[in-house]
Amino acid sequence: MQIIDGKATAAAIKAEIAAKVASRVAQGHRAPHLAAILVGHDGGSETYVANKIKACADCGFKSSLIRLESTKETPLDLAVLMAEIDRLNKDPEVDGFIVQLPLPHHIDEQAVIEAIDPSKDVDGFHPVNVGRQSTGLPCFHSATPAGIVELLRRHNIETAGKNVVIVGRSNIVGKPLAAMLLQKGPQGDATVTVCHSATPNLASVTRRADILVAAIGRPGFITADMVADGAIVVDVGTTRVPDSSRKSGFRLSGDVDYENVAPKCSAITPVPGGVGPMTIVSLMLNTLQAAEARD
Ligand code: NAP
Repeated sequence: MQIIDGKATAAAIKAEIAAKVASRVAQGHRAPHLAAILVGHDGGSETYVANKIKACADCGFKSSLIRLESTKETPLDLAVLMAEIDRLNKDPEVDGFIVQLPLPHHIDEQAVIEAIDPSKDVDGFHPVNVGRQSTGLPCFHSATPAGIVELLRRHNIETAGKNVVIVGRSNIVGKPLAAMLLQKGPQGDATVTVCHSATPNLASVTRRADILVAAIGRPGFITADMVADGAIVVDVGTTRVPDSSRKSGFRLSGDVDYENVAPKCSAITPVPGGVGPMTIVSLMLNTLQAAEARD
């Protein structure tokens, strides 16, 4: 059984990006610039944004963090957020930007996503990028699915002709991953099944998977009886579960019952250290792509 090391793979890719950036800068180009808007103080979002800013430094990018306050007493005015998005859309010094999700409940996330200029939408969530991705056109690929595909590619895991079962149909993981793996050509050509909460006899479907992807958000949901012997398992889940032995008071748990599933697999991604670091690297690759498009 092979443990697919997303952390090491991500570090190798960041080094490749940093070398490209150094050569760009030596040729007189600007370093790529990623901006992030963070609304409020959600613990998970604070960590994700801090990791993205750190990855920018690792890659030689410039980064900017724009914090907008929102509390129960003084909820953020949508117009303020939209004005910030408009400013970043127009700023020639910013190659790409993200609005960290989730947003407070009173804000319409889809309206926010659609306000971002698709040429700066390095999260790949704008309908223009989603549509271009599903038709196989050049675009910013959604970061987590792109990270998974790259992780498989770098571990010589072929998708062509394989039965891939994805549990979870979110707009940021399940659906775009299905679209990517379905494409004709390298890193595609899979037969893809997407399952969700209304799928009957889920275990009978997941057991048919050569490659099983769990993107559910329920710790330990995929148990050993749901996995075929020799399957490749990709665990996208990252749920914070209380853990008093940790300084933070929590640990990250995947959607796969790792201890019992891993011995059955030919390869598996751990949590943490699997898909998570690859997601951030995909964001860096999209930002580099955005900067190159602006040369
Ligand atoms: P989401 O939007 O909540 O979607 C969860 C999906 O799981 C939905 O499609 C849901 O079905 C399905 N589901 C829930 N219960 C189910 C059940 N009993 N049987 C079958 N399907 C079920 O979640 P998400 O945003 O895709 O995220 C999923 C997990 O991945 C979370 O833990 C998240 O934190 C993690 N994540 C990690 C990364 C990373 O970089 N590592 C990135 C993104 C997300 P319905 O559609 O029918 O409700």
